[in-house]
Amino acid sequence: MNPERVSIYVHIPFCARRCEYCDFNTYAWRGNIVRDTLEAICEHIRVADAEGVVVPTIFFGGGTPTFPEPELVIRILDAIRSRFNVSTDAEISIEANPGTVDRSRFAVLRQAGFNRLSLGVQSFDDRLLQALGRIHSSREAICSYEAARAAGFENINIDLMFALPDQTLRQWQHTLRTAIGLQPEHFSCYALTVEPRTPFYTMYRRGQLNLPDEDTDLRMYLYTIRALTRAGYEHYEISNFAKPGYRCRHNIVYWRNEQYLGFGPGAVSYRNGVRWKCLSNPRRYVQAVRDGLSLVEEEEQLACEQSLGETLMLMLRTRDGVDVRTVQERYGVNLLQRYANQLNRLRRLRLLEVTPDRWRITRKGLPIANTICAEFLA
Ligand code: SF4
Repeated sequence: MNPERVSIYVHIPFCARRCEYCDFNTYAWRGNIVRDTLEAICEHIRVADAEGVVVPTIFFGGGTPTFPEPELVIRILDAIRSRFNVSTDAEISIEANPGTVDRSRFAVLRQAGFNRLSLGVQSFDDRLLQALGRIHSSREAICSYEAARAAGFENINIDLMFALPDQTLRQWQHTLRTAIGLQPEHFSCYALTVEPRTPFYTMYRRGQLNLPDEDTDLRMYLYTIRALTRAGYEHYEISNFAKPGYRCRHNIVYWRNEQYLGFGPGAVSYRNGVRWKCLSNPRRYVQAVRDGLSLVEEEEQLACEQSLGETLMLMLRTRDGVDVRTVQERYGVNLLQRYANQLNRLRRLRLLEVTPDRWRITRKGLPIANTICAEFLA
């Protein structure tokens, strides 16, 4: 029997401080709860169903995984290796925020086996960094990047955000040019979205957040595509760009709607057609692990139709698009017949390229990719 390929996500739900726009499951807590949570994650991994599983990618996200002591984080990676059969060529990523790491911390993480780093820079404009509530300056971001390189990280992603309050196209161009000058292997560039239950949302409702208009937002996005492709990066997903050979293998698992297990408060898993989420609150998570109780906060059995719709939606996000034959084999449906209406309409509008083997969003369709993807949800 072929081994089952299942990726692993570890959620470290702590940050030095919460950013003004953040709606992730993260807490600006310190002290014992941080250690207790990381120990509970190790225990959670030790009892996971690992039978017949091979792990091609591991991703430590958050939160800020470089906020706790590296030794605690490394213990989690060791627990994964003891419990699971991790591929020898596995991609093992960790997110880091400037201001929480120096060269020696990076070196310890690199030596422990992390081989890809995702650095949350967001902007190279100090005024904007401050407005976002980030704990670092632009200078510190550059220092962190250089420290990571010096510590041996040869595969680095930089996270950037555009369409920030009061941001002009010129300011975004400056940030992007500075970032390109550093020559990371990968970029993730997202437009800011103002999420409910964040300080930015309150400011937005009060009319205190001056966001760029739609036209500027679009020009920033199109500039991003132009500048990064010119600099040698493949635009392989709506918001992601990589030098050849450096696409993020872990995120590709999500975009193909393949299987993954999540460990840590609020982490989501998807396996055998079931999606579930762990208890979000770290205190409740720790207690449940200690008491041997269920860690599931939400669970959903996905109907075949729903899973198919999600797979198409996720694959359309990528520039490779939908691999028609693979999806047909996986779900046993004739895709061209099943989605004839959507395909004809989107093709007529020149928003989607459709061949018998592949569907891809066109350049014209990219700025409204989310709307196009939603057409395929059941
Ligand atoms: S560093 Fe990231 S996870 Fe932490 S508060 Fe800021 S945006 Fe949220």
